[in-house]
Amino acid sequence: MADQAFPTGTLMAGKRGLIMGVANKNSIAWAIAQQLAAQGAELAFTYQGEKLLRRVKPLAESVGSDTLLDCDVTNDDQMDATFAALESKWGKLDFLVHAIAFAGKDQLAGSFIDQTTREGFKSALDISAYSFVDAGRRAAAIMNDDGAMITLTYLGSERVIPNYNVMGVAKAALEACTRYMAADLGPRGIRVNAISAGPIKTLAAAGIGSGRHMFRFNKAASAMQDNTDSKGVAGAALYLLSDLGLSCTGETHHVDGGFHAIGMPQEGPLRESLAE
Ligand code: NAP
Repeated sequence: MADQAFPTGTLMAGKRGLIMGVANKNSIAWAIAQQLAAQGAELAFTYQGEKLLRRVKPLAESVGSDTLLDCDVTNDDQMDATFAALESKWGKLDFLVHAIAFAGKDQLAGSFIDQTTREGFKSALDISAYSFVDAGRRAAAIMNDDGAMITLTYLGSERVIPNYNVMGVAKAALEACTRYMAADLGPRGIRVNAISAGPIKTLAAAGIGSGRHMFRFNKAASAMQDNTDSKGVAGAALYLLSDLGLSCTGETHHVDGGFHAIGMPQEGPLRESLAE
């Protein structure tokens, strides 16, 4: 059974989809998976290697899924095998959740201009942006014509966030890819959107230097004066992947407590957070 904290219903009844990017129970993709399952979706998951399988399998089983596919997005054979397995199991797909990003730790601290190497740039853009295009093309080939896809992005694409560096550039590319994919697939009725989530404590977030400062600052400076709850991200995913999201495509939707909307934060909470 899915976590009852996620609103139950039938919005995703009869829909089947692939979730890419669950590493553990803190992953944003796991919150999304639970919300979709609570609304009746049937799910398949990818994982990377045996170590991750041990963590992802019990989570998948808890939402009634027995479809776990080993898939490193840089490995074309594994990508081919993943979508071939889905086609042979289900025939058609209704949705895709892409929640994958990577940049070397050496790229995510210090000055962007000094730290960013050619190899670091290529691998961040390949894994964090191109993989959505690649997975999206393969998913679209077996997707029903009212299907939908989402990816996860962050405000570091639009504004400079300390230490986010090349990942900000990759997220800018990912958001542009979302718009181009939306245009290509729109005539078929397939919608493609991005959710720009505020900072959430996950494995990926732990890789960004100055993480503690980022959480404190976001809490103090956001409109809601709180950090982002992954349940809000999961709710937005449900909207964008279900028929509730009809006519919404090519969008980057912020779920960050309104942090992106603030030009100048309130003085009091900010002063307190900087003093901590
Ligand atoms: P997470 O739990 O660490 O998830 C990241 C996932 O990406 C992991 O499952 C990871 O698998 C996978 N991945 C990395 N390289 C891969 C590859 N080559 N092939 C296949 N999978 C690969 O962290 P998360 O925060 O939930 O991240 C999910 C998405 O949300 C990312 O795109 C991230 O940038 C975005 N996001 C996060 C935040 C935040 O504050 N946490 C905010 C906005 C957006 P491995 O563990 O096996 O590498």
